[in-house]
Amino acid sequence: MNIKFLGGAREVGRVGILINYGSKNLLVDYGLNPGNPPSYPEAAPPVDFVLLSHAHLDHSGMIPWVASHYNAKVYSTLLTKEISNVLYDDMLKIAEANGYPFPYGKEETDISLNNFRCFESYSEIKMDGMDVKFHPAGHIPGSVMIEIKNLEMLFACDINTIETNLLHGAKPVKAKNLFIEGTYAGTEHPDRRELEKEFLDEIDDVIKKGGKVVIPAFAVGRSQELAMLLYKSGYETWLDGMGSKIADLMLKNKKCIKSPDKLKKAMKSVNIVYSNHGRKLALKSGIVLTTSGMLNGGPVLWYVDKIKDDPKSAVILTGYQVEGTNGRMLLERREINMYGVREKVNCNVKFFDFSAHAGHSQLIKFIKDVSPENVIIFHSENPMALAEEIDANVYIPNNGEKIKI
Ligand SMILES: [Zn+2]
Ligand SMILES: [Zn+2]
Repeated sequence: MNIKFLGGAREVGRVGILINYGSKNLLVDYGLNPGNPPSYPEAAPPVDFVLLSHAHLDHSGMIPWVASHYNAKVYSTLLTKEISNVLYDDMLKIAEANGYPFPYGKEETDISLNNFRCFESYSEIKMDGMDVKFHPAGHIPGSVMIEIKNLEMLFACDINTIETNLLHGAKPVKAKNLFIEGTYAGTEHPDRRELEKEFLDEIDDVIKKGGKVVIPAFAVGRSQELAMLLYKSGYETWLDGMGSKIADLMLKNKKCIKSPDKLKKAMKSVNIVYSNHGRKLALKSGIVLTTSGMLNGGPVLWYVDKIKDDPKSAVILTGYQVEGTNGRMLLERREINMYGVREKVNCNVKFFDFSAHAGHSQLIKFIKDVSPENVIIFHSENPMALAEEIDANVYIPNNGEKIKI
């Protein structure tokens, strides 16, 4: 069996894993790095089909290209297809607004949506001589680990092993060949319960002092996770951006989330912003959860602009801020690019690590429990940190390099 990473090896993002088995070519994930402009993986050769682990664009962003180009079928959960569709529309709008060339358009996206073959959740699929099984990945709703039984392979393309409000943690599945992400190789997360407490205490402090809290959050997963946490803790919260649309999709695909009733209650209790008037009410009320999570556009900029000179108020970041984003600049330099103008941010800026990825020890434990013969580490900037602790044959391929297992 030959394997080649078209992208996503020794880097976080733009994953594309090409597997050549007999006369078959198949692809696991095919994404891009959203940016201005985005960066892409190597062009895929003709493939028989694609298996898609989840909707994040670094795994799904190039699916419309490959599915329309080669008329390839795409296997995923229904929720992954539905969320991807929303993200494609958004990405095409951004590409058009910024005027950079893009590898596909609406037509290709529509063709690819027709080529999806979807499963409600964690199904076993038999096709084309392949025996595939989806397992919950605990990362975002709809995400799966992909087991190809006849090739003894397990793909853990973005996993989280801890329990959160939204999802159960991923459970290990025995496999001979394990492909695993290493986003947080070498880095541990804080204990989630303690983190939640500190986060809520911080919000309490700001509100008691008469300040406002703006919480930038990713539309997929983080917005809903935090809405559930804030609801459970009795806070009146306003939600702005794509998070409520995505929550509706999650509630339609109940098997992909841990507790549909709890998410439903939380979403009913939050106030949704639909207009500029709503935005003013939200800010007046005090706690706003809004996209985008890394402050690269979206309604969050309006809110930050309003509170940035108020020393009583706070921007509370809840996710990893990629190098080169507004969020990273805010964290490191207390500055933000506000509609093309760089401005100083004088309010409080805090960071809480609500990650959707397994931390170092969690990855190590997961790998041990899978008890593989071969481990292929990807989606990582620090793969050696994991490799050193793994008792198996470890592969850390480069993009474009062919490996045989
Ligand atoms: Zn992901
Ligand atoms: Zn990823």
